[in-house]
Amino acid sequence: MKNILVVGGAGYIGSHTVKMLAEKGYNPVVYDNLSKGHKEAVEGFAFEEGDLGDKARLADVFKKHQIEAVMHFAAFIEVGESVKEPSKYYHNNVAKVLNLLDAMKDAGVKYFVFSSTAATFGEPVKNKIDETHPQLPINPYGNTKLMVEKMLEDFDRAYGLKAVALRYFNASGADDSGHIGESHSPETHLIPLVLQAAAGKRPSIKIFGNDYPTPDGTCIRDYVHVNDLARAHILALEKMEKENQSLRYNLGSGSGYSVAELIKEAKAVTGIDFKVETEGRRAGDPAVLVADPAKAERELGWKPQYGLRKIIETAWNWEKNRRF
Ligand code: UDP
Repeated sequence: MKNILVVGGAGYIGSHTVKMLAEKGYNPVVYDNLSKGHKEAVEGFAFEEGDLGDKARLADVFKKHQIEAVMHFAAFIEVGESVKEPSKYYHNNVAKVLNLLDAMKDAGVKYFVFSSTAATFGEPVKNKIDETHPQLPINPYGNTKLMVEKMLEDFDRAYGLKAVALRYFNASGADDSGHIGESHSPETHLIPLVLQAAAGKRPSIKIFGNDYPTPDGTCIRDYVHVNDLARAHILALEKMEKENQSLRYNLGSGSGYSVAELIKEAKAVTGIDFKVETEGRRAGDPAVLVADPAKAERELGWKPQYGLRKIIETAWNWEKNRRF
C-alpha cells in the first residue's frame, strides 16, 4: 500500500506526516482546501486543492491517484471556539467526515487513519489515561471527535472499512529541518505563545490559572512531538493493513509538565527572561491530562523520541525562522 491521501496535509501535523511518509517510501497526496493549511508546508508533494464536502472531487482524486488509504487531519481544533460555534464544528468535523467515508466506501478505499484527541475522554478519572478510560467529552470539539470514532466502529461492522483512531495529547515541536512547524491563526497553544513572548513578538505569556490542585497550581499536560505523532500514524497504518483490523491508541509521552515548568524550560532553552503574568482559569481546562501510552508501545513498538527539551528546541528553531 503506497498511495496515501492526506486530507488536511497542509496543516501542522499533516505536513509533518506527509514529509515522513515520503521519507519512508510512500506516495502521499495532499488534499486540502487551504482554509487553515499552508501551501508552503507541502512544497514538492502532490497537491490537490479541494474540500472534504466535495464528493465528486474526492471520487476524482481517489481514481486519479489510485488511493489505497486515507489519513485525515482536516479538523477544527479549538475547544473554546467549539463551545461558541458548535454548528461549525459539527459540520466540519462530523458531517464532512461522513462525506469522506462515503466517498471512500464508493471508491472501495478500505483503510482510514483518524486524528482523534484526548478531549474525547473528558475529565480524567485516573492519573494516566489509557484506552479503557471512559469517553465522556466535556465540550463540542471532543463530542465531534468521539462521534467519528463511533461512526468508524459502525462502518467497520457494516462495510469492513478499517480505521485507526489516534488520540493525541498535546502535539508540539517542529521538524528538525526548521522547514515546517506550527502556524495557527489565531495561535492559542501554549508553546508557540511562550516562544513568541521570548522572541518579543508578544509582550508576555499569560498563565491561565495558578490555583489548580497540582504541585505548583498550574495545569499539567503531556507534550508529544509532532514527528513522534507522524511516526505513530505510519506504524498504525502498517499494523492495520497487515492484520486487517481497526485499532485505537492514546498517543502521549506518559510524562506531564506544568505550565510553570514549561515556561522555566523555555527560558532555559532560549536564554531569554520574558515576562510572565497570571490570569484566571480558561474555561474547560482539566487540571491534569497525561496519557498512558503503554498500548502503543506494546503493539506498535512506538516510544516518543523527543522529550520536552527537544520539543522546545525544535519549536524555538522554527519560531526564529518561521516561513509561514
Ligand atoms: N495555557 C496558558 N496560557 C496560554 C495558553 C495556554 O496558561 O496562553 C495553558 C492552558 O490553560 C493549558 C495548557 O497551557 O493548561 C496547554 O494549553 P494548549 O492550548 O496549548 O493545549 P490544550 O491542553 O488546551 O490542548
